[in-house]
Amino acid sequence: MNIHEYQAKAVLKKFGAPVASGIAIYSADEAEKAATELGGPLWVVKSQIHAGGRGKGRFKEPVAGDKGGVRLARSVEEVVENARQMLGSTLVTKQTGPAGKQVNRLYIEAGADIARELYLSLLVDRTVGQVAFVVSTEGGMDIEAVAEETPDKILTLPIDPQAGVTDADAGKLADTLELQEPARSEMIELAKILYEAFTSKDMSLLEINPLIVMEDGHIRVLDAKVSFDNNALFRHPDIVELRDETEEDEKEIEASKYDLAYIALDGTIGCMVNGAGLAMATMDIIKLYGAEPANFLDVGGGASKEKVTAAFKIITADPNVKGILVNIFGGIMRCDTIAEGVVAAIKDVGLEVPLVVRLEGTKVEEGKKILNESGLNVTAADDLDDAAQKIVKAVNG
Ligand code: ADP
Ligand code: MG
Repeated sequence: MNIHEYQAKAVLKKFGAPVASGIAIYSADEAEKAATELGGPLWVVKSQIHAGGRGKGRFKEPVAGDKGGVRLARSVEEVVENARQMLGSTLVTKQTGPAGKQVNRLYIEAGADIARELYLSLLVDRTVGQVAFVVSTEGGMDIEAVAEETPDKILTLPIDPQAGVTDADAGKLADTLELQEPARSEMIELAKILYEAFTSKDMSLLEINPLIVMEDGHIRVLDAKVSFDNNALFRHPDIVELRDETEEDEKEIEASKYDLAYIALDGTIGCMVNGAGLAMATMDIIKLYGAEPANFLDVGGGASKEKVTAAFKIITADPNVKGILVNIFGGIMRCDTIAEGVVAAIKDVGLEVPLVVRLEGTKVEEGKKILNESGLNVTAADDLDDAAQKIVKAVNG
């Protein structure tokens, strides 16, 4: 689960991280109140969407001299004017995709006098099975370019889970960031704070880009992006409350209600598969034959008829779906349950696109019988290869 920048900053502040004062707002009136309360003389008006690259982003309905999704303002009037332009508009950034995201909330924050912009993140480094810091002196808006062009400017430092962040670790981070006092001591403290926040809240990513050194020599968290491990959310009701469903894919929200592993994608072939590995293989083979999957969907092991029905409805509700491939290898999952779910869903919502079904394994004959006797227009396939070719042909012609 992702949260907004202002929420991430509030979480980090509780652990003692240095963040500026700021107020989240939903309307231009609130913007005026917030700006007055913060007092200036410099404010920043920041679009709150679950995507990065806001500073360099551009609004879809261009306004004169579009200054992107993060704007400096030097008076209350300027804050309000920017809030008017940004609220309700659609911001397109490198991370939103061409459709962009509508800005419904803004964060009005005290402006900082920036001397240096640094990069710092924490993530789960799966190659070593540890939480790792990633830092670079080249912070700001284009860390992806730094990683590509000058990877030696990035330090990855895995943390021993038993020892936690040692003074030696923190010192190494501060040295890599070329920090002088008082920033150096503050960074050593911040490293421990961030590691504590990351591990105790079960984060999967914590990215601060930029972490800044201000003209007065102190450091500050200027941007914050935090993702949490969904499987650990039950331990953090305070974090679950921060969920903003308007930022999430509707189909994914619906799928999460049925405990389905579903990820929406951009292609045209809807997939219903059991097992994550088989789902990945199914997506691969669809691509191999020249089409693109519309989703990843693993209905899991012991899915009920209701769950299969819900899954099928989610797939058909996607207007991009021009064909559906059901690929089930019945082990714990029974082929007859899948067939019943598919038939029930089609009776409910209809079927307007070609459907290819490949069933194999437990109760396969019963499953095929249910589909054959349903009177529905289903193309049967013998194996994965055959199934993929048939659905791609049906969609691409
Ligand atoms: P994004 O990463 O989505 O573009 P950031 O929060 O990193 O958004 O903001 C982009 C840039 O805007 C920062 O690199 C910084 O230069 C500037 N900026 C952001 N917040 C402030 C602030 N409070 N004071 C001054 N400048 C800011
Ligand atoms: Mg940033």
